[in-house]
Amino acid sequence: MDSARALSDARPTPFWLEDPGRPEALSALVGDTTCDLLVVGGGYSGLWTALIAKERDPGLDVVLVEGHEVGWAASGRNGGFCAASLTHGFGNGLQRWPAELAELERQGAANLQAIEDTVKRYGIDCEWERTGEIDVATQPHQLEELHEVAEAVARYGLDVTVLDADELRAQVNSPTFLGGIWDRDGVAMVHPAKLAWGLKAACLAQGVRIFERTRATELGEYGSGMAVRTPYGRVFARRVALGTNVFPSLVKRVRPYVVPVYDYALMTEPLTDAQLASIGWSGRQGLGDSANQFHYFRLSADNRILWGGYDAVYHYGGRVRGEYDQRPETFRTLAGNFLRCFPQLEGVRFSHAWGGAIDTCTRFSAFFDTAYRGRVAYAAGFTGLGVGATRFGAEVMLDLLAGERTERTSLEMVRSKPLPFPPEPVRWAGIEITKWSLDRSDRNGGHRNLWLRAMDRLGLGFDS
Ligand SMILES: Cc1cc2nc3c(=O)[nH]c(=O)nc-3n(C[C@H](O)[C@H](O)[C@H](O)COP(=O)(O)OP(=O)(O)OC[C@H]3O[C@@H](n4cnc5c(N)ncnc54)[C@H](O)[C@@H]3O)c2cc1C
Repeated sequence: MDSARALSDARPTPFWLEDPGRPEALSALVGDTTCDLLVVGGGYSGLWTALIAKERDPGLDVVLVEGHEVGWAASGRNGGFCAASLTHGFGNGLQRWPAELAELERQGAANLQAIEDTVKRYGIDCEWERTGEIDVATQPHQLEELHEVAEAVARYGLDVTVLDADELRAQVNSPTFLGGIWDRDGVAMVHPAKLAWGLKAACLAQGVRIFERTRATELGEYGSGMAVRTPYGRVFARRVALGTNVFPSLVKRVRPYVVPVYDYALMTEPLTDAQLASIGWSGRQGLGDSANQFHYFRLSADNRILWGGYDAVYHYGGRVRGEYDQRPETFRTLAGNFLRCFPQLEGVRFSHAWGGAIDTCTRFSAFFDTAYRGRVAYAAGFTGLGVGATRFGAEVMLDLLAGERTERTSLEMVRSKPLPFPPEPVRWAGIEITKWSLDRSDRNGGHRNLWLRAMDRLGLGFDS
C-alpha cells in the first residue's frame, strides 16, 4: 500500500490527548489573588514545581496558571520516553561535561526513581512501564558508534547490554536492525498526557490552586515580590517559577536561547495478535535508531506502535503556531520509513498523526537561572528529552528561589548556559545548513563535513 493511503483516516490530533480520562479545564482566574509561589505553565515543568514546592513545605500557598489547558502542549503529546538522562543522552553529556557526568548520571537516575515513586505514591495511572530503551544501529558506522558509547558507559561504571543483530531481532524483529545497546533501567515508557493529568490531580490534592485558560501576559516587580497580569486578573506572588518551555518567556532575555523545533509522530491502530507476533517485542522497550535524523518508537498499552521523529522542522521566524502541528509531507515520510523498518506490518493503518514544538537550545539540555534579583526562576531548553528532566528542572528552580546551594545547583551543567541562537536570518540559514549537513552525514557513513566539525568545536548544534 502506498504509505499515504495508510494515513487516509489518521486523525490530526495527538493520540494521547483524545483519552476519555482527559479532565475538564478548571476556571480562569478572575480578580486579584496573592500567594507565596506562582508557577506559570501547566506542563510537567510547572506541575512538578508546584507539587514539589508543596511537598517541601505543605504550608506554602502555591498558585499555578496555565494559558490553555494543563498538559495540552509538549507534555501531553510526546513520545512518552521518560529517561534518567539529564543531558539529552549519555553521548551529549560526555561531550560537554565529562568531569561531572558520573554525578549527572547519578542525579538523573535518582530523578527517574523519584518520578516512579511519585507515580506510585499518588496512584497516578499513567501506564508506567520501566522497560528500558534500546538504541539500534541500522547502518554499519552506527554499530561502531554504539559500541564506542557502550565502552564509554562501562568506563563510567554504568550498565548497558550490547545486542548483536540476532539478539536484537529476538527482542524486536526488523530486517533493518544490525545491533543495539539496551539500557534496561534508565528509561520508562509512560502515557504522557495521563502523567500530566495525574500530576495535576496530585497538585490539587496537595492544595495547589490551579487556574487554566489563564495566560500570564506581564511580569513585573511589586513591593518585595512580583506581580503577574492575566486576562481577567492579577497574581501578587513572593516568588515566581516559569515553566513555559518553548513559548515566549516572560523574561525577555531568555528568548534567544530557545527555538521551537517541530517534531512529528504517528500512531498505528492496535496491532492484532498475529501482527504483534511478527515483530516480537515482548519486552515492550522503547526504541530509537541512531542516525542524526532518528526515529523513536514504542508500544502503547493497547499495542499500537507510536512512530515519531526523523524530520525536525524549524520555521523561519521561530513562532509557535497551531498550524505547524500538521505536516503531511513529514507524515508521509514517516509512514514510508515505518514500513521499511517493519515490512511485515504492510497494511497496518495509522489512526493519529500529530506534531508539537520542542524547546531546542544549542546544547540540547536544559539551562536554569533567576531574574528580578532572585525572585523569578526559570528552566528551559530541554530539547527532545524533557519528560524526565523537567522534574529535575523543577527542583533546580525551587533551589534557586530558596537561594540554596544544593547538589543540583553546584553542578557546572546547572551553573552554565548554552550559547544563544543568532537573530534571523542568520538563525534560519544556520539551522538549514546544519540540517542539510546532518542529512548528508546520515547518507554518507556518518562522515561530518567541515560545517558540522566547526559547529562541534564551538559546542553548537541542532537536534530534537
Ligand atoms: C512530539 C514530541 C515528542 C517528544 N517526545 C519526547 C520523549 O519521548 N521523551 C522526552 O523526554 N521528551 C520528549 N519531548 C519533549 C518533552 O515533551 C518536553 O521536554 C516536556 O514536555 C516539556 O515540559 P514543559 O512543562 O517544560 O513544557 P510544556 O509541556 O510545553 O508546557 C508549557 C506550558 O506552559 C504554558 N504557558 C506558556 N506560556 C504561558 C504563559 N505566559 N502563561 C501561562 N501559561 C503559559 C503552555 O500553555 C504550556 O501548557 C517531546 C516533545 C514533542 C513535542
